[in-house]
Amino acid sequence: MKEFSYITREKDMEQASGGFYDVLIIGGGITGAGIANILSKNGISAILVEKSDFGSGTSQGSSKLIHGGLRYLQEREFRLVRELLKERNYILSNVRDSKKIKFNILIGDSTWKKSTIRTGLFLYNLLGGKLKIPRFHENRGKYPSEFTGYFEYEDGWCDDSRLVIYNVVSAHENGAVCLNYCEFRSVEKTGEHYLSTIYDSIGKRSLRVTSRMIINCAGPWAEKIAQMTDTNPSLPFKLSKGVHITVSRSRFPMDSGIAFMSKIDRRQIFIIPAGEVLVIGTTDNLVNDPEDFNPSGDDIDYIIRSAKQVIPDLDQKDVLTSYAGIRPLIGDSDDPGKIPRDFVIKTDGYIINVFGGKLTNYRAASRKVARIVSMKFGMKFHIKGEPEISYQRPETADRFVNEIRYECAVFPEDIMRRREAFRIYREDLGKSEEKAVNAAFREIRK
Ligand SMILES: Cc1cc2nc3c(=O)[nH]c(=O)nc-3n(C[C@H](O)[C@H](O)[C@H](O)COP(=O)(O)OP(=O)(O)OC[C@H]3O[C@@H](n4cnc5c(N)ncnc54)[C@H](O)[C@@H]3O)c2cc1C
Repeated sequence: MKEFSYITREKDMEQASGGFYDVLIIGGGITGAGIANILSKNGISAILVEKSDFGSGTSQGSSKLIHGGLRYLQEREFRLVRELLKERNYILSNVRDSKKIKFNILIGDSTWKKSTIRTGLFLYNLLGGKLKIPRFHENRGKYPSEFTGYFEYEDGWCDDSRLVIYNVVSAHENGAVCLNYCEFRSVEKTGEHYLSTIYDSIGKRSLRVTSRMIINCAGPWAEKIAQMTDTNPSLPFKLSKGVHITVSRSRFPMDSGIAFMSKIDRRQIFIIPAGEVLVIGTTDNLVNDPEDFNPSGDDIDYIIRSAKQVIPDLDQKDVLTSYAGIRPLIGDSDDPGKIPRDFVIKTDGYIINVFGGKLTNYRAASRKVARIVSMKFGMKFHIKGEPEISYQRPETADRFVNEIRYECAVFPEDIMRRREAFRIYREDLGKSEEKAVNAAFREIRK
């Protein structure tokens, strides 16, 4: 397999400077990574630039559920749920690190109605390709007595940043140039083409790249990029912050996930077992700043107070860490929960803006964009079943060295927070791994 490291990054940077590409992709989250993967597989010369590390925006701050979104059935989003479930099934069958996760959805007098959930789950299973009548289980002391019982259902889970990395490495294998720590700063039109200025925050230098097309996949920053490229399609663009906390799984042992309704505002909350922790969230509050990734005290307090319904002993001091993601949404409602979660693609000449979307349906977004690119360039693409991941992390003793050499981890935090995400899934937040990760960097740099 091809080396993809800070050393090849230097070489790629030199080549890219003054270079000409079919497509410049802005943003190395799941959307940009999936699009780089499918386009490069079809022979398009693509350069992807990410201002920080790959998968360090919203694609590291999600609930990491690969799901159809049971709740979207309430909003009658049947087409979206069916598409998401199809994609869920694909990811569960093809991405080794993904896994099925069982959820118990709790029912009580002040939560959803039993009949609503039974019907919803029946439909959910059906849309996901399974004919299964949901069975209600009596509580029998498993949960606090305010819950009469629960329904079981199954969904998927996959670490979000890892899915991004797999797509970026696959795109790199296909020949795409993928540059982390490189920010798109400005663009000018030169005849038929676009001349963009990219800033490398590691080398502290700028490079100029010419492309026939620009694809804006900047997630919560997408509106800003659309303004910079003069293609702002005056959509009702909104940002909503979602916070999660983690607590020790050994202190609160749990094998199945839990979905329940918060008494505070009747929103759905998940408790998700992952590694050594339970991930609990999330919130859904409108914000103005795409950089507003800090969980606030109020957000954390809301999650704890909600989760106490299920884990009465849970306390502020149990919180190991917290993290936030910003949802890019397109919709008029002031209630972000009511805004559809599907992606919206707007094309203006040779600039494509991708807004919104879910982690789960990134492949559907990639295919839709690939169809537009193939039409614009008058080329025939192979789109069905794509984008496929051609790289998955091998089980090796030199795991961290592998991540530096083949997954372009540039700094220890790229491993600690994203490629391994110890900062989330470990009780000690990965402190016990820091030495080994630093040693891997020393080993490579020898
Ligand atoms: C709290 C929360 C929970 C969620 N849970 C789920 C879930 O369980 N399941 C699910 O399917 N979906 C979930 N989602 C949705 C999912 O996380 C997002 O749809 C997805 O991560 C968006 O990916 P993206 O690539 O579009 O955006 P991002 O991941 O934000 O990527 C955009 C990238 O663009 C980069 N960028 C910005 N400006 C520039 C520039 N000038 N130059 C270069 N790069 C730039 C950023 O650094 C960023 O990395 C959740 C979202 C949130 C917020």
